[in-house]
Amino acid sequence: MGARRQAEHLEVLIIGAGLSGIGIATHLRDRHPRRSLALLEARGALGGTWDLFRYPGVRSDSDMSSLGYAFRPWTDPRVIADGPAILRYLTETAHEHGIDGLIRYGHRVVAASWSSARARWTVDVELTAAAGPAHASEASGPDSAGTDPGRDRASPDPAGADSGSVATGPGTAGRRRIQLTCDVLVGATGYYDFDHGHEPDFPGRAAYAGRVVHPQHWPDDLDHAGARVVVIGSGATAMTLVPALAARAAHVTMLQRSPTYVVSVPAVDPLAARLRRVLPGRWAGWLVRWRSILRQHLVFQFSRRQPGVVRRALLARVAGQLPTGYDVARHFTPTYDPWDQRLCVVPDGDLFAAIRGGNVDVVTDEIDTFVGTGIRLRSGTELAADLVVTATGLRLKMFDGIPFTVDGARVPVPARRMYKGLMLEGVPNFVFAFGYTNASWTLKVDLVGEHLARLLGHLDRRGYRMFVPVAEPDEPAEVTTAAGDRTFFGFSSGYVQRAAAELPRQGARGPWLTRMSYLADLRTLRFGRVDGPELRFGPLPRTRPQGEALSAGGAEQALLADGGREPAVGGVDRAGVEATASRGGQRDDVHQNPVVQPGRAVEPDRVVEAGT
Ligand SMILES: Cc1cc2nc3c(=O)[nH]c(=O)nc-3n(C[C@H](O)[C@H](O)[C@H](O)COP(=O)(O)OP(=O)(O)OC[C@H]3O[C@@H](n4cnc5c(N)ncnc54)[C@H](O)[C@@H]3O)c2cc1C
Repeated sequence: MGARRQAEHLEVLIIGAGLSGIGIATHLRDRHPRRSLALLEARGALGGTWDLFRYPGVRSDSDMSSLGYAFRPWTDPRVIADGPAILRYLTETAHEHGIDGLIRYGHRVVAASWSSARARWTVDVELTAAAGPAHASEASGPDSAGTDPGRDRASPDPAGADSGSVATGPGTAGRRRIQLTCDVLVGATGYYDFDHGHEPDFPGRAAYAGRVVHPQHWPDDLDHAGARVVVIGSGATAMTLVPALAARAAHVTMLQRSPTYVVSVPAVDPLAARLRRVLPGRWAGWLVRWRSILRQHLVFQFSRRQPGVVRRALLARVAGQLPTGYDVARHFTPTYDPWDQRLCVVPDGDLFAAIRGGNVDVVTDEIDTFVGTGIRLRSGTELAADLVVTATGLRLKMFDGIPFTVDGARVPVPARRMYKGLMLEGVPNFVFAFGYTNASWTLKVDLVGEHLARLLGHLDRRGYRMFVPVAEPDEPAEVTTAAGDRTFFGFSSGYVQRAAAELPRQGARGPWLTRMSYLADLRTLRFGRVDGPELRFGPLPRTRPQGEALSAGGAEQALLADGGREPAVGGVDRAGVEATASRGGQRDDVHQNPVVQPGRAVEPDRVVEAGT
C-alpha cells in the first residue's frame, strides 16, 4: 500500500471515444468551453465501431448525410460510405474541434460509483497497454493498491472513493488502476461487446478442417482469393461481405436460416451532387440531410401503418434485380413485416449483381453439423468450404457492463427505466448516448450533446449540482408491444431478443417512453425544457427508485422538484420551501414521490437542510 493522493477531478467525463463520445464532446466544448472535460477510451484509437470492424467491404448501412454530424456535414457524394472513410471523417472531426487532445487512450472504465454526500462520481479505470508505460494520470503521486473491484462486480464505493483519494494498483491480469472523479458522467460506450461477437455453438465445429472467422475480428493475414467461402447470416454484415468476398473468391454461399428485407439504393445521390454544384456546401448539406431524415421517417411510418403495401413494393424491387425464375419467395421473403427488423441496404444492388454474376448463391436452410470439409444442412445438402465466416451478429451490452453504484448500492440496470432516452431512473448526473435503430445513430447523438449542454447551463444558472430522473408512483412499469417486445429497440431482431433481459425498461408514456423517432426527440431534446416534474434537481441528493432497499448511506432526503420555479438561493429551492410552508409542512412533490418512503417522509426543515 502506498500513500493516497487526491484523485484528479473533471467536470465532465465521457466514457468512449467513438462516434457518440466525439459528437457529445464537441457539443459540450462548443457551449461550455471552460468546463473541464476528458474522454476515457479503452482502446488505443478513436472511432469505436469504425476502427474495430475491418472486414472486406465494411460500410455504413444508413445514408451518410444523416450519419454525419449536424455540425460537420458529410460532403462526399457517396450515399453509403466505407468504414475507412467514416473513420477518417471521425478522426478529422475530433481534430478540427480539439477533441483528440482530450482523449485518454488505454483507459477502460471498470466501475463507477456516485456519492450523494460529495455529489460526484468516482470512476475506476483500468489502464491497458494502449495507455503507455506510465500514464500522466498516475505519474503525479505515489500509488496505493487499495482496491481491485473487478469488472463484474460492483465497486463497494471504497473509503478512498469518498475521501477523494486515488487508489491505483494492479487490476485484472496485472493491469494498473487509477481513479478519477467527475460531476457528470457520460456513457458513450456503444451497444455491443467489443471483445466478443455472437457465435452460436455449432455442432461438429471442432471437426471442420477449414478456417472459421467472425467479422468482428477479421484477421489481417486472411487471403480468400480462390477460396470457397460460406458466410453464415442474413444481416447487414453478411450482405456487405458477400459481394466484397465474391470479387476474389472462387465461390461464395450466403447461408441463412431466414431471409431479410433488402433494398437497393443508388451509391451516389444525383440530387445531392446537383445541389452541391449550385448551393453553398452548408446549405446543400442541410437540405440533403433533411430530405434524408424526412424520407426515412415517412418510409418507417408508412411501413408501420401499411406493412402489406411496403412488403409488396420491396419484394417487387428485389425480384426485378434477380434472374428470371429466381426463388424470391424462399430466399428474400421474410416472415416478419418491414421494419420489425432493420432493413438491409445495398448500394447499387451490389448483392444482386453478385448473384447474377454466377459465383454467389443464397441457401436458406439450417445447419445440422459442421463436417471436415464444410457444413451439412438439415436438408442433407453439404456445402464445401475452405473458409466459413460467422456473420451471426453482435452481443448486445449496455454501458459495457460497467457496474454502477449509487451511495454504495448497485444499480440494477434492467430494473430501471430510461428517461428521455438519455438518462437512467434513479442514477444522478449520468447521461448516455444510444442512437436510433430505425435511422442514423448520429441523429440522436447530436440531440444528446445539445440537450446535455443545455442541462449544464440550467445547473449553472440555478446553482444546482445534480439532477436525477425519478418516476411518479403511478408510472406504469413497462409497455409491451403487440409483438411482445418490451425493449426500447422496437425490434424483434435476434440480437435484441437475446439481450432483452439486460436492457433498461421501457415506460408507457412521456419521458419514460423511448420512441426511436428523431422528430419526436427533436421536439423534446432540442426545443423542449430541460427540466420537468420527473427530473429532480438539488445540491445534495439522496434517492432510490421504488421498491429498492435503502442504501447504507441512507437515501432519505427528497430532491427538490424544479418545476421551473425561482432559482435556488444558496443551494435551497426557495419557492419549494415556501410552497411547503404554505401547506402546513406538506410538500406535494415529496408525498407524490415514490423515492420517499412513507414514514420516512421528508419534513420541511429537513428539505431545507437538504439544500444547505
Ligand atoms: C458493422 C457496423 C455497421 C454499422 N453501420 C451503421 C450505420 O450505417 N448507421 C448507423 O446509424 N449505425 C451503424 N452502426 C451502429 C454503430 O455502432 C453506430 O453508428 C456508431 O458507430 C456507434 O457509436 P458509439 O460511439 O456510440 O459506439 P461505438 O462505436 O461502439 O464506440 C464505443 C467506444 O467506447 C469505448 N468503450 C466502450 N466501453 C468502454 C469502457 N468501459 N471504458 C472506456 N471506453 C469504452 C469503445 O472502445 C469504443 O471506442 C453500425 C454498426 C456496426 C457494427
